[in-house]
Amino acid sequence: MRYEDLYRQSVEAPEAFWAEQARAIHWHRAPDAILDYSNPPFRRWFVGGETNLCFNAVDRHLDERGEQLALVGWSTETDSIRELSYRELHREVNVFAASLQSLGVGRGDRVVIYMPHTVDAVVAMLACARIGAIHSVVFGGFAAHNLALRIDDAQPRVLVTADAGIRGGKVIPFLPLVNEALSRAGHPPEKVLVVDRGLAGPLALREGRDVDYATLRRAHEDADVPVAWLESNEPSYILYTSGTTGKPKGVQRDVGGYAVALALSMWAVYDIRPGQVMFSTSDIGWVVGHSYNVYGPLIAGATSIIYEGLPTSPDAGIWWRIVERYGVRTMFSSPTALRVLKKHDPSFITDRDLSSLQHLFLAGEPLDEPTARWISEVLGTPVIDNYWQTETGWPVLTLMPGVEMKPVRFGSPGLPNLGFRLRVIDEATGEDAPAGQKGVLVIQPPLPPGCMSTVWRNDQRFVDSYFGHFKELLYSSLDWAIRDEDGYTFILGRTDDVINVAGHRLGTREIEESVSSHPDVAEAAVIGVQDAVKGQVPIVFATLKRAHSDEEASETAAQMQKVVVEQLGGVARPARVYVVNALPKTRSGKLLRRSLQALAESRDPGDLSTLDDPGALDEVRRALERGP
Ligand code: ATP
Ligand code: MG
Repeated sequence: MRYEDLYRQSVEAPEAFWAEQARAIHWHRAPDAILDYSNPPFRRWFVGGETNLCFNAVDRHLDERGEQLALVGWSTETDSIRELSYRELHREVNVFAASLQSLGVGRGDRVVIYMPHTVDAVVAMLACARIGAIHSVVFGGFAAHNLALRIDDAQPRVLVTADAGIRGGKVIPFLPLVNEALSRAGHPPEKVLVVDRGLAGPLALREGRDVDYATLRRAHEDADVPVAWLESNEPSYILYTSGTTGKPKGVQRDVGGYAVALALSMWAVYDIRPGQVMFSTSDIGWVVGHSYNVYGPLIAGATSIIYEGLPTSPDAGIWWRIVERYGVRTMFSSPTALRVLKKHDPSFITDRDLSSLQHLFLAGEPLDEPTARWISEVLGTPVIDNYWQTETGWPVLTLMPGVEMKPVRFGSPGLPNLGFRLRVIDEATGEDAPAGQKGVLVIQPPLPPGCMSTVWRNDQRFVDSYFGHFKELLYSSLDWAIRDEDGYTFILGRTDDVINVAGHRLGTREIEESVSSHPDVAEAAVIGVQDAVKGQVPIVFATLKRAHSDEEASETAAQMQKVVVEQLGGVARPARVYVVNALPKTRSGKLLRRSLQALAESRDPGDLSTLDDPGALDEVRRALERGP
């Protein structure tokens, strides 16, 4: 099959195309209409159809693959492996669903899941889906403040949590964080359901509020909980964006469109058939975790690996041992994680039998060419850059080995995914930018299945944040892009990451790429700061691969400036280069450029609720005081 043909069908006759794709999932009631776009920019797919994510992910496979592995929970933190067949998963989900019901949770109620990345967390998500409750997973690494914000927005009936998370061997008890969050929250849940992993000693449960799952489940071991059949457009979950550009937005997802989009992507994009194994290293706290650790692989009847731990512990070979042991076919990770592995000996990877591994996808932020080349060479397989957003739920730009593998072009996440009508719009004119010219990437509405329905309880924010940028009604999350003659699209960073040096508009990404091509640089962040003469000038914050003296650091900094001038010209010359030991990132691994920029311009660093390591910001402050 040719990609072009399938893509053309998907955008020229979308209703016929999606009607066909909808056959891949189970419908309790067939849709009355494929698309309702009578109230733009809102759109509804598979109107009147009734289905259920849990049924499609679990029950539907029982006859054919009940004994096949559904989930493998591999934890290097607790040194354990837990394997669940589809039949065992079905049992666990029923017990959990009955337990939730016994706490009063029903259709349309919200359940906040604040859990470590474990099989139990997946079970909790599926249990919610089964009974029509709306889950809102909050990344287990977030602190009380983030949890409280999300609780107040989602207003859950129940919070599901664990006794503790564990990171790099350090046990982090969750209950103190939960207590703090609930005392701050304006709308705390009535009940807290605690899954005890036995990591944090005896549970200090609050009488009347906290419930120990091990005790509660005993009353429900044999439960058979009927599936709640939901209209295709009822909400399935709420998930917050990463907060890289500001306050996180609560993305609301539907049921039917999401299931159909995931079913399609599992074979077309990720090239996974029933019975094959997918390993996504994301956490269930992020959208990739929702779509490709949980719902996608299970809807496809595949096996999904749920990995808890660092990519480098006990050593940098851990992920590749998992690939070898379970015969992983498709892996999904992030550029940040690969840059961490790049600091280690490649023999950690090449020493394993990786003959099962066909594809590695990377998503979440720009994939720099040195990292892409390094990992493709080490693995001997092409590495596929994926561009998407929490909002879209599945890839926007990708290559599709399941349809037709096109050549990789470094620096580009490839071609439009099926169903996505993408345009690059010239910011000044509001018209389509010609090939080779920079513009803003937009999706021509209606958004395809899988994408968000709205911002949770805030339709106005949905309209304003995503559809209010151009004279035409176009969806955009404001990323810069260039499309080449063949339709390959290159993402140049966010529109607010552009630096205007004496009238020249430079993408932070191109300068970062250039700085990163210096062999000693591990990672670089480039921002623009105000300058009396030029308007703005680029400055660089970089980490180095090896330990270094101050002299070595300033020598390397000077070389970085030289590299940029050689590659991009004098106008891009970084005015200052700061060598630091860590860069500030969100918990999902994205550079917080807006905070770097604010500090460099002596402003308030803004919403830091999703900042990973406060130490990294302190370091930047010190570096700024010290001078480059
Ligand atoms: P917020 O919307 O709250 O500011 P965020 O945009 O980082 O945070 P996510 O949904 O996690 O939230 O990330 C989506 C964004 O990540 C994209 O809009 C884009 O800027 C960036 N991104 C994702 N994948 C890629 C990629 N392959 N190449 C370049 N950029 C990417
Ligand atoms: Mg965004």
